Amino acid sequence: MIRDEFTVIAGRALRLHQGVESLDVGAVRPSPVGPIVEWKAPLLSPDRQRRPLPGGGHVLGAPAGPDILGVLVRYTACRWRQGPPHAPSTWAEDLAFRHPAIFPFPPSSHAGWSWLWQAGAEMIEEYGIPKGFKTVDTKEKFGSLRWHTEANGDDRHADNVISCIDHLSSFVCEYCGAPGLLRKGS
Ligand SMILES: [Zn+2]
Repeated sequence: MIRDEFTVIAGRALRLHQGVESLDVGAVRPSPVGPIVEWKAPLLSPDRQRRPLPGGGHVLGAPAGPDILGVLVRYTACRWRQGPPHAPSTWAEDLAFRHPAIFPFPPSSHAGWSWLWQAGAEMIEEYGIPKGFKTVDTKEKFGSLRWHTEANGDDRHADNVISCIDHLSSFVCEYCGAPGLLRKGS
């Protein structure tokens, strides 16, 4: 179940990433932060996606595949940490209470994304919260999550984690956290 969810979300989230065909999802091992899905992807590009422009040059697209998988591993660990997934109705207030430096107010979404916010908060804290870091807005837009922050210090790590979370949210059901897809249309 855990491994299946990981595999489906990873396949969709990395669909356009170079070398994704080399992704091999291994065992799930217990850890203090929850079940950790092991994976290998020897050919997966370590770079952010680049989309070529018609006149030459390129624009940067989705975050690097290995970074997305790193955040997905943590998402899965958070979601299954206490057994079968369950988000209490107070999950948003709980997150703001446990991670006050990350969330000065409870993040705004349905419960399915609670483990995305949680994974982000934990990863940013563990790396070290950037100087002057704060969340200024959280919302859903066009079916994916938006998490706007400010910082004075070097926030490249936090910024990249948040980009991975934004990207993953398109493949995670906002209501229950299971693998999901964006619907076409409005
Ligand atoms: Zn759902």
